[in-house]
This record gives sequence, C-alpha cells and structure tokens, in this order.
Amino acid sequence: MITDVKPTIEIARSAGWCFGVERIVQMAEKLLNETPDGPVYCLGELIHNPQEVARLRAKGMVFVKSHDELPPLKPGEKRKVLIRAHGVAPAVKRALQEKGYEIYDGTCPLVTIPQRFARELAEQGYRVVIMGHIEHPEIQGILGYLDGLNAHVDVIAGPEEVEKLQLKASDRVGLISQTTHPYEKFAQLIGRVLEHCLEVRAYNTICQATFDRQEAIRELAQRCDLVIVVGGRNSSNTCRLAEIASQYTTCYHIEDASELKGEWLAGKEHIGISAGASTPTRCLEEVQTAIARLTGARENSRHTSG
Ligand code: SF4
Repeated sequence: MITDVKPTIEIARSAGWCFGVERIVQMAEKLLNETPDGPVYCLGELIHNPQEVARLRAKGMVFVKSHDELPPLKPGEKRKVLIRAHGVAPAVKRALQEKGYEIYDGTCPLVTIPQRFARELAEQGYRVVIMGHIEHPEIQGILGYLDGLNAHVDVIAGPEEVEKLQLKASDRVGLISQTTHPYEKFAQLIGRVLEHCLEVRAYNTICQATFDRQEAIRELAQRCDLVIVVGGRNSSNTCRLAEIASQYTTCYHIEDASELKGEWLAGKEHIGISAGASTPTRCLEEVQTAIARLTGARENSRHTSG
C-alpha cells in the first residue's frame, strides 16, 4: 500500500461505452461468429481503443487502413467488410461495392447526422464550417459527403481559430461539430462567428453520450483531488474528458491499469475515474480495482455511474 489515506473512489455518473460503440462491437462479434473460416475485414480501427481492437484481431478480424488494401475477390468469392463507427465517405462505400465485398455498415447513427447536415448546408449555398480535427476519420467521412458540390468548407479546431476563416459580413455560414467535441466550445464558436456574419445556421451535432460524459466529469472533477481518465490516446472523446478534468484538478489519462503509478495516488482523498465512450467497462473496472489495491480503499466506496 502506498498511502495511509484511504481515499473515496468515485466513478463518473456517465462513463464508458456508448450505444454506438456497443452496437459496432456486437456487429463485429456476430460477423466473426458467422464466419468461422474468416477473414472478416474492418476498414480502419472500428473504435479508438487499442485493447478492444487487439481483442477482436485475436479473434480473427483483419484491420485494413484503406479499401485499396483489400484483396481482389475471385469469381464467386464472398468476403465481408465492416465499416468503422466513425463512418466513411460515400466514395469509399462505392469502391467497396465495386470490389464485390459484402458491406456491414457500423457507422454510428449519430455520426450520420453531421454527414447529412454538412451536405444539406452546402447544397443550400452555405459556407460550411466544421469544428473538429481534420485528420479524424469522422471528419474525413463528413468531408466526403461534400464531394462534387464545389462547397466552400473549412475545418477548425474551435473558436480560437475563427480569425483564420477571414469571414465577411455577407458570408452565410453553416456550422456543425464533430460528434465528440465539447458543447461549450461549439457554443463559443457560434458566438464568435455571429460577431462577423449576419446569417449563421448552426446544428448541434454533438452526441448526447459525449455531452453526458463531459458534464459528468466536469461535475466529478470539482470534488476530487485526482481524476483518472481511461481510454485510447487516439480517442478524441477520451482526450476531451481529460482536458475538461484538467481544468479543475490533477488528471492523468491512461489506456489501462498497467499505466497507473502509485505515486499519483499518495495522499489523495477523493479519486474520480471516468472513461471514454470507446473504453470497455472491464478496463474501467480494472483501474478501479488497481486503485483500491494500491490505496486500501474499499472498491465501489462511492459509485454513481449510470
Ligand atoms: S460517442 Fe456518440 S457519435 Fe461516437 S459512437 Fe458513441 S454515440 Fe456514436
């Protein structure tokens, strides 16, 4: 034991797997079970969690970065490919169809909302501004929905980049957000764009699971002297949770219990735990158990997750 203090451990009231992640993992399991002779392909990492990707890889799922890596099929041959939760551009789906693959679309239904609104805004002549990370697969997929429209589109990280847009008063601006970005920043972005332009149409495309997890960690972090956030370092929504917690208290972002350091816990009285929407429940529970073991705290000494 590394401390005399027995802390309270509290799990955020909203943490861990969301319905979109649960849905695609169930799809992956079903495809693997139905295809014992394999292979089942997945286009990109189905979710941003290295442990879950490794688990499915061990069960036979083959991950490819691009549709170009999928082998051509022999006449009569059938192969299955799963589309990641972050979605892909329509052109990618067409390429898969042309190759003859059976497509299983794991795109989260909530990701289809910004895809649809981006296209609708562009068709109506709006200058489309997307808050998100340009290299994120969800944003790449959304941009693909604007193909062929000759749209004026910009992707910015947040309100701090509005000046880069060089907006004019006459610009008609349509705003959407990556589903996993903070609501607070999106609200600020709308305000900043309105300072420049007369006409702004904004769609709140931040998903409810993201919003709930962000609000829960904000509330939790304010009464903790340490918060541990569990999830992939490549997971956008997990990184946002760590950013929010860091505004209020000491926070560490780890991928699993093996990364936990005893020195972080020494003398802490109230330790909060949260996990990104792509983090399996078992990873969160392993961290909780490890903290309890290192500090002597009772597990579930205070547990408000839901
Ligand atoms: S975080 Fe939201 S948008 Fe992303 S998979 Fe989960 S429910 Fe869908």
